[in-house]
Amino acid sequence: MFCVAIDGPGGAGKSTVAKAAASRMDMQYVDTGAMFRAVAYALIRRGIDPEDEAAIKPVIGDLNVRVDYIDHKQIVSVEDVDVTPYIRTPEVGQGASKVGVHGCVREKLLAIQRQVAEDYSVIMDGRDIGTVVLPMADLKLFITASAEERAKRRYKELVAAGNTEADLATIEAEIRERDYRDSHRAIAPLKQADDAYLLDTTEMTLDEVIDKVCAMIEEARNR
Ligand code: C5P
Repeated sequence: MFCVAIDGPGGAGKSTVAKAAASRMDMQYVDTGAMFRAVAYALIRRGIDPEDEAAIKPVIGDLNVRVDYIDHKQIVSVEDVDVTPYIRTPEVGQGASKVGVHGCVREKLLAIQRQVAEDYSVIMDGRDIGTVVLPMADLKLFITASAEERAKRRYKELVAAGNTEADLATIEAEIRERDYRDSHRAIAPLKQADDAYLLDTTEMTLDEVIDKVCAMIEEARNR
């Protein structure tokens, strides 16, 4: 299977770009952040603190996390409940970044992620795809943008979705906190793989980024 690994910090537009490119290139988009979010959501619902590894270890093995691809869309379920509608909140995002620190959680999700890449030609995005999950990926990209720009984009997204309480300064502070935790954790920290192409999108439009990524995929396919 042909596979593309996309890593980068939160809010850089990875998922929007990966989704659009996957649809254009007839590949499957795989959102690994959603898997960490689903675990965080399930733990929070069970009253377990996402930072409490000792409490997570005994339950993570039996937690039934599943991903399905229906009409090219990823559905993440926990205990057979589709959690997709509940995991995009800032609270769950922070929780995902907290559970992502624990080896037992990463190990469980790693097995699912590798299996998907065996079943489909994927564009997979996350934090450790090019470095840990798919080190043999056919193409690796590191998509980033300045923290200010990422905060602005997320703010606009929230406002467009009708969120009247969105606050730019709070969003930027949360982005910086998540960046720090994701890049400084002991296991699979966010970093650019040695053989990944860096794409700084701060000064690019979304369409420009999608075109560029599709052109790179085309080139990698023909290599
Ligand atoms: O990409 P998204 O914002 O949905 O990811 C939520 C969190 O899940 C990230 O901040 C990160 O801590 C964690 N994550 C990870 N490894 C991945 C994908 C996401 O640790 N491959």
